[in-house]
Amino acid sequence: MFETMRPPAPDSLMEVGRLFRADMRDEKIDLGVGTYRDGEGRIKIMAAVKQAEERQLKSQMGKGYLGPGGDQLYCERLMEALFPDLPAMADRRLSFVQTPGGTGAYRLGLELAAFRSPASRLIVGAPTWPNHIPVAERAGLRSVTYRHYDPATGTVDFDAMMEAVSDARPGDLFLLHGCCHNPTGAALSPAQWAELADALLEAKLLPLIDLAYAGMARGLVEDAAGTRRLLDRLPEAIIAISCSKSFGLYSERTGMLAVMAASPSAADACRLTAETFARSLWSNPPDHGAAIVRTILGDEGMRANWLAELDAMRHRLAGIRSRLAASGLPGTEPIAAQEGLFAMMPFDSGQIAAMREKHAVYMDMSGRINIAGLNAGNIDRFLHACRDMSHP
Ligand code: PLP
Repeated sequence: MFETMRPPAPDSLMEVGRLFRADMRDEKIDLGVGTYRDGEGRIKIMAAVKQAEERQLKSQMGKGYLGPGGDQLYCERLMEALFPDLPAMADRRLSFVQTPGGTGAYRLGLELAAFRSPASRLIVGAPTWPNHIPVAERAGLRSVTYRHYDPATGTVDFDAMMEAVSDARPGDLFLLHGCCHNPTGAALSPAQWAELADALLEAKLLPLIDLAYAGMARGLVEDAAGTRRLLDRLPEAIIAISCSKSFGLYSERTGMLAVMAASPSAADACRLTAETFARSLWSNPPDHGAAIVRTILGDEGMRANWLAELDAMRHRLAGIRSRLAASGLPGTEPIAAQEGLFAMMPFDSGQIAAMREKHAVYMDMSGRINIAGLNAGNIDRFLHACRDMSHP
């Protein structure tokens, strides 16, 4: 039965990871997969996470199912941390479902949107996270792309974005990265978020905001401010939140879907529908990561500890950004004003392959680098390799 099956091409990042693991050179540099590393190149467990885990270990009495909607207290605390005093929360116009990671939240949000209006399309700025379009296809949604990024300036192509809004049909989903755009790092200004909110309202589009890196650019609430602008302005929105990066809980699959509806009864209908879909996708979400987040956010000391570590992470990223921008290499200048884990290097596929073969530097074939993979021990070698590529 399976003899004729042709596997789809793997996502390019998975391939980069495979090549990196197979490289035996000690000096190899991994700028591929999007995990935060500290100054020594480690994916560390955050101190507050360890503390919450210890408390969890002592206090957990059983391992029963959470139910398809998951832990609502975790969801409420996370929402409150990102969007303090949100009127829609007080008005009971929000519904939450705990999900396996941000990917689960994104998939569930798409399922809900496709159920609400099967003809709606997903409007996506390119380039984007390599999983966005395949997951939408799996959920049965057609996607339409527009140019999100202007490589000449290293900024968002805001005119193209606004044109995509006016070209969309009422009811279409408009995908946005809440902050720290993956892969470009290019961010919308507060004025652009405001203009976008007005345009989405006018065009009757449903924003789907992927918020996967809150706290990695300017601060937790600050990084959620663009999303907040949309929540304050529009009647409906879908938000897919990931705790993978902000809490370093990658393998614990910790995320949540938030749906804002126009009324409390519509919000209830969204929750019940999303729970039904969650039941058929993964039945129940995993408990451990969400319990950690709930514990950290519910304890003043742990919360302060976590926020301080998150601040240190974003300062480290900002420092690497400044260093890259000051390198004088072509195309690196805008990196300082961009944000988050990623930046695009202006290399073609031949140069990217040569970086790998000659210098053992691994980056995505799109030219995306995870700047958290750079540190005091390897950044000079990286810059040297880049110079070699720029002047072969
Ligand atoms: N959205 C974006 C833009 C991402 O980069 C990622 C992870 O790399 C995710 C969502 C999903 O994260 P996870 O499912 O691991 O929580």
